[in-house]
Amino acid sequence: MKTTQDLHVHTHLSICAEPFATPEAYIEKALEIGLTSLGIADHLWDSAVPLDDHPWKGFYGEQNYAHTALSREEFAKIDTKGIRILFGAEGEYDPVNHGIGLTEEVCQKLDFLLIPNSHTHMMMPKDYYEPKQKHADFMLKAYFDIINCPLSGYITSIAHPFAAVACKPYPSGDLYPLISYNQYKEAFDAAKEKSIAFEINTSGLLKYTKDEIKSLPRLDVFRIAKECGCKFTFGSDAHQPESLESIRCADLLREILKLTDEDILTI
Ligand SMILES: [Zn+2]
Ligand SMILES: [Zn+2]
Repeated sequence: MKTTQDLHVHTHLSICAEPFATPEAYIEKALEIGLTSLGIADHLWDSAVPLDDHPWKGFYGEQNYAHTALSREEFAKIDTKGIRILFGAEGEYDPVNHGIGLTEEVCQKLDFLLIPNSHTHMMMPKDYYEPKQKHADFMLKAYFDIINCPLSGYITSIAHPFAAVACKPYPSGDLYPLISYNQYKEAFDAAKEKSIAFEINTSGLLKYTKDEIKSLPRLDVFRIAKECGCKFTFGSDAHQPESLESIRCADLLREILKLTDEDILTI
């Protein structure tokens, strides 16, 4: 494996992850795959940023920094067998403040920071699903809010960019073509300027054939990002140890997108 770093791993501390997503189990799986570094990215909303009664309060209420930082203690207790552990987070877009749900104090404590512009299942009003263009426009607006927020300098990579996560009415990939080449270009030029990378998320890709992976609509989006000189990170988005396996698809994606070592951001 050329790809030795998985920069998007959820432990059991993420409430949507499996209880058996333990440090020990991840270390064993990482060794089996040949990874040398794991980036822990549990869901995080800093408790200093008001949640009020927003619909995402139920999900993020407990997942504050004190909670996610428990993984540091858990990993400190075990033998990581040479696997380097990075303690980061998957933060969140804050549509109320047009920024991210974190404070600078917390950002400074993280080894890396992923921010998604595409958790629309949680952060977007439900009546924005139709027409699909409204959904795509919301994601683009979220993207620019994130990129332009005062804490953008702390963002390492945009998690699963423009992939409408957990979209029930239609496939998440339906939205990629609704954003124009020029809009993507403007978006990626701004990220390049701020040294923010893009995550190539491998979750769920093992079920596809090589040809199916080659024709994934999201690859065109990554090609534009590459053209703009942006860098990429890889993440399995594992919510249990077995799901680390999908990172094996990273080498194929590197090949398809013709990414060199210089195109990859390794922390
Ligand atoms: Zn996510
Ligand atoms: Zn995630």
